[in-house]
Amino acid sequence: MLSNGVKRELTWVVTSTWLLLFFAWLTGFWVETFAFFILIYIARNLWSMHKFEKWMEGRKQSSYPPASGFWSELTYLVSKKQRALEKHADLNLYKSEQFKAASMLIPDAIVSLDQRNVIEWFNTVSKSLLGVRRQDVGSKIESVIRQPEFVQYLKSQKFHKPLTVNSNYRQSRTVEMQVIPYFENHKLLVVRDITELYQLAQIRRDFIANASHELRTPLTVLRGYLEVMIDTPGEHHKAWGLPLEHMETQSLRMQAIIEDLLTLSTIEAESITAVKEVVDVPLMLHQLEIDAKQLGNENHQFTFEVEEALTIKGYAEPLKSVFMNLVSNAVRYSPDGGEIDVRWFKENANIVFEVQDSGLGISQEHIPRLTERFYRVDKDRSRVTGGTGLGLAIVKHVLERHNARLYIDSVLGKGSVFRCEFPVAKS
Ligand code: ADP
Repeated sequence: MLSNGVKRELTWVVTSTWLLLFFAWLTGFWVETFAFFILIYIARNLWSMHKFEKWMEGRKQSSYPPASGFWSELTYLVSKKQRALEKHADLNLYKSEQFKAASMLIPDAIVSLDQRNVIEWFNTVSKSLLGVRRQDVGSKIESVIRQPEFVQYLKSQKFHKPLTVNSNYRQSRTVEMQVIPYFENHKLLVVRDITELYQLAQIRRDFIANASHELRTPLTVLRGYLEVMIDTPGEHHKAWGLPLEHMETQSLRMQAIIEDLLTLSTIEAESITAVKEVVDVPLMLHQLEIDAKQLGNENHQFTFEVEEALTIKGYAEPLKSVFMNLVSNAVRYSPDGGEIDVRWFKENANIVFEVQDSGLGISQEHIPRLTERFYRVDKDRSRVTGGTGLGLAIVKHVLERHNARLYIDSVLGKGSVFRCEFPVAKS
């Protein structure tokens, strides 16, 4: 099928040829007439080509140039395509402007970064919250936000969790920073001012810490009196011997709960400010081996397999309470004679702390909830063994601060494995 333009051109050529034949027949100048016709035809096409070229170069491409035949069809098609493209580009521009306008209204700071962490654009809040200025577009984000924690976070490429820090730019503000990868290695840096939220959480933490602290002294006094009454022989022992012992057991439990609550709030309070140090875990575990044996009254069979010289970067005291909690659980939830294996070793990209016992085990439905505060599988058993219900909550919290994970594998009646995987530090 011939296109419209070619058809029109053919019509023109055929009509002109007939006219020329008639003219040549009238005059008898056949050769000159045809030579003249070819010249005119070439000149006409050259002129159309020239106009088409000028029109293509020109800016006003929406209007058609005066052209005829094949050329008019070609310019029409080109101009139609051009307008469709312009419309598409306009729509894209509109959409991108709309997105930017919407992002300006978001109450969080948003900065778009390319694959090299160079700032592409940012919203209004970024100016007040992070101090990003117009002239920073094209610079690396690390040269604008120089906070070491942020630089480290960006380098780590671990963006599944946000980073909470005290803002360097706006003193006394607490911010939560999160990098969200998007579109071909680009990233969105989203920063929220969580000062009020953080302060509320702080008030709650302070309240628990203060209440626990305040309860400590009266409880110590009560326990002192109880001990004296138990240890002093006399008439009162006949009627009060058993209740006094119950009172002492319960006061010991209260003391353990208070201590655990204080540990939890200390760990939470330190989460922004504390600095990691190299922790000599093997040394810690050797001490723990002695304590664990005493805790189980030498009734359990312990195996400690510790990779010597395998240290870790972290927070010493919280790590100690993780190890202590897991080992003391293994002791408390295993019958006398039970085997308890404690391991500290490196495996691929992780450093692993593992406690395996051959004790009571836990049925599957409880496992996801074990790290909740005060969650106990068997309340009575936990009470008898002196449990506070906070041990695994402490473990979970400390592991989160180390970007570590807790895996629990257990078979009811057979035993459990509690495994902590610490990522090996890159630096
Ligand atoms: P608790 O102080 O009651 O032991 P934890 O937070 O340490 O509190 O543990 C929560 C619950 O998980 C415990 O009450 C217990 O039922 C269960 N648990 C923890 N460790 C073990 C274990 N090694 N074997 C069996 N059950 C366990």
